[in-house]
Amino acid sequence: MFDLTGKVAIVTGGNGGIGLGMARGLAAAGARIVVAARDARKSEAAVRELGADAVSIAVDVTDEASVTGLIAETLKRCGRIDVVVNNAGINIRKAPHELSLAEWRQVIDTNLTSAYLCSHAAYPHLKARGGKIINIGSMMSIFGAAYAPAYAASKGGIVQFTKACAASWARDHIQVNAILPGWIDTDLTRRGREQVPGLNDNVLRRTPAGRWGTIDDLRGIAVFLASAASDFVTGTAIPVDGGYSISG
Ligand code: NDP
Repeated sequence: MFDLTGKVAIVTGGNGGIGLGMARGLAAAGARIVVAARDARKSEAAVRELGADAVSIAVDVTDEASVTGLIAETLKRCGRIDVVVNNAGINIRKAPHELSLAEWRQVIDTNLTSAYLCSHAAYPHLKARGGKIINIGSMMSIFGAAYAPAYAASKGGIVQFTKACAASWARDHIQVNAILPGWIDTDLTRRGREQVPGLNDNVLRRTPAGRWGTIDDLRGIAVFLASAASDFVTGTAIPVDGGYSISG
């Protein structure tokens, strides 16, 4: 039920952080991974770790032509697409009145428009055999934060975009779901801990599990949502957060 042998999974931002954690899970379940990100050195290191048949394809997920190229190159090198994980993301931590329009657009384009571009371009190929799309939301899909206006808007949008695609593509046998990671120790949140006073203590106090998540905490949910185990699960947003979202 969880076997992904023969499946091809594109993971945007798969060269580090949460993307690499999910890629590890998918690879261990048998999938061939396409690491799709900008930094070639990081991507090559990820490919070496993920196994002999993993490939790295450079992409800027904010750029339509680059995304179209990613899909074409995946088909050329791997022959099919079964799973798309829309994971690439950034944050620019500023109050709404301090965020410029260019910064707003950069975050929305990277975190939200990218999911549209990748899903839109992959759709005909997923439809061919049925497939899976996994979008990465956040606790900011649920909560607000004074320092994350564009990020929260993008992550709220990801959940609603997930529902729209799930409804539209259910009869094509494409399941579309979102994961809402809690506080996971990555480059992104390491920068957050430096920039936001008290963040580390707040996370530890409020997370019932009493710790930051690791990237390997995302392996299981990725396998579940990429595999036949979730064939009747679509349009959901599943927190993987050590209980953060249910804690007062
Ligand atoms: P990292 O900074 O470790 O990873 C971000 C990834 O996105 C990198 O692989 C980066 O690769 C890629 N990326 C960024 N911009 C682009 C772009 N324009 N085109 C292609 N790839 C891009 O962060 P995380 O692992 O923490 O974050 C991954 C996802 O998880 C994000 O969507 C984030 O919002 C979300 N998330 C993270 C949480 C956490 O606690 N860490 C909590 C909730 C959600 P490269 O630079 O090589 O392009």
